[in-house]
Amino acid sequence: MSPAQSEARRAIVEYSGLLWSRGLVAGNSGNVSVRLDDGTLLVTPSGVSLRALRPHEIVATDAQGVALPGAGRPTSEVPLHVAAYRVRPDARCVIHTHPAYCVAWSKTGTLFALDTVGAIESLGSILWTPYAPSGTPELAAICSSAFAAPCDTLVMERHGLSVLAANLETAFVRTDLAEQTARIECAARLLEWAGVSGAATALAHVEPGVV
Ligand SMILES: [Zn+2]
Repeated sequence: MSPAQSEARRAIVEYSGLLWSRGLVAGNSGNVSVRLDDGTLLVTPSGVSLRALRPHEIVATDAQGVALPGAGRPTSEVPLHVAAYRVRPDARCVIHTHPAYCVAWSKTGTLFALDTVGAIESLGSILWTPYAPSGTPELAAICSSAFAAPCDTLVMERHGLSVLAANLETAFVRTDLAEQTARIECAARLLEWAGVSGAATALAHVEPGVV
């Protein structure tokens, strides 16, 4: 195994654990992949929690997502990963999660507001995509057309979040930030609904010191 593959396996394990510890996945949900220079994909396995993966459990597949001999069974969402890499040659990794607030927002058929400092400065392009059953070619087609827009972050109706990037750190930060932005917007809507009209004024007095 090449040093690059060993390092990629270690990084997938590390970021998978981070996704779990940040509450961005639950149960056995969520999956992560990395594309190596030779086109090989390293993908998290099917039916295994991201909580405590080990490097040897990461599944190597060809560019079509077919597991290499003896490599194990990749996530059932592998068609989504393959489709993302097909339309975005610049992508080197994909993180797919089921964050609660993003999924809640996805059910409204709209995107949450992207007006916070974090969203404006660091979230990048983001789109809402319509529902299709998990693991299907239909879902992969919907996501690949959105990624080809081009767009790096997708809020998938009644499902989750998919982010592609040039490296796992960027994909993780966008995943984490998208969920925080969705959570903030939920809280802001609740305050608005509760009639807390002075909230913005009160915060304006605090903000300069915080920044
Ligand atoms: Zn999923």
